[in-house]
Amino acid sequence: MKKNEKFLYQYLNNASPTGFEESGQRIWLDYIRPFVDTYISDTYGTVVGVINPNAEYKVVIEAHADEISWFVNYITDDGYIYVIRNGGSDHQIAPSMRVNVHTAKGVVKGVFGWPAIHVRHGEKETNPTLQNIFVDVGCSYKEEVEKLGIHVGSVITFEDELMELNKKYYTGRALDNRMGGYMIAEVARRLHENKVKLPFGLYVVNSVQEEIGLRGAEMIAERIKPDVAIITDVTHDTGSPLYDKKKSGDIKCGNGPVVSYGPAVQNNVRDMIIKVAEKKKIDFQRLSASRSTGTDTDAFAYSNAGVASALISLPLKYMHTTVETVNKEDVEGVIKLIYETLVQLKAGHDFRYIK
Ligand SMILES: [Zn+2]
Repeated sequence: MKKNEKFLYQYLNNASPTGFEESGQRIWLDYIRPFVDTYISDTYGTVVGVINPNAEYKVVIEAHADEISWFVNYITDDGYIYVIRNGGSDHQIAPSMRVNVHTAKGVVKGVFGWPAIHVRHGEKETNPTLQNIFVDVGCSYKEEVEKLGIHVGSVITFEDELMELNKKYYTGRALDNRMGGYMIAEVARRLHENKVKLPFGLYVVNSVQEEIGLRGAEMIAERIKPDVAIITDVTHDTGSPLYDKKKSGDIKCGNGPVVSYGPAVQNNVRDMIIKVAEKKKIDFQRLSASRSTGTDTDAFAYSNAGVASALISLPLKYMHTTVETVNKEDVEGVIKLIYETLVQLKAGHDFRYIK
């Protein structure tokens, strides 16, 4: 296995819940460290690899490091655990899933239990809701659960790991958006290996706490004060069953990176990216976002009295499930598009509409 692929598996198979991203950030930083001049880390755990730290003109490429998870909220006297969300975790997929409960004593195994089909008779099926799903860690009493190191506030993730489908797709838990962390790290690696001398400061940002409202990006945008920000996140493949193209647009895995239109996206930055895609023959798709993009793009765009920002998304099937699926060629497409955009960008470029 190649070094970058090994990193991808290690990074994706590690748990990095929102607010608890430290172990993932360490893996990411270890990988990117040889490709950058220095790094910044902030109080809440966002990590930034920096190339040309003394340059005046600052360019950000960004992904988010956190994954959705659950919090232990209530332990019953007979040892069952009720949860609340940490990010947009999906109650519908929870029953019968295996989980890792993260404690100071290490990972404790558990399962989301569910009543048997035999006893769910009657016309009305009980659907999983946040109120009725529960985790079983094999204990009979609350005290027994607590002895395992589990307490209110312990974080729970599904245990599913990364695998491949038909050699063409990666599938697994929380590719949203750690695939983004992989892609921006790959951009840094390629710049380094191709000995590209950038005329500006490049800030390779792996932000924390996106899943609960773009919080990490808000913090680091104020710290870096960039001139330009190119964000990458995932977006819905609407070609798989039960999606509505009229509502969610027409995006398909395998058709390339997705370039977004929307008020938060600075038109001149976006058009520059599209020009690069056309020149370098990188297939891309278009998506429109009403009001905000719902990604860290919004956080950067609306920081520091306005930062010229754009969004390049990776199409993904089944978002916020444990089988999030992306096409390998799209991953390569996003890396290439960010890389080629950076290589042609001049220091000091003024993206304003009216000068
Ligand atoms: Zn997400």
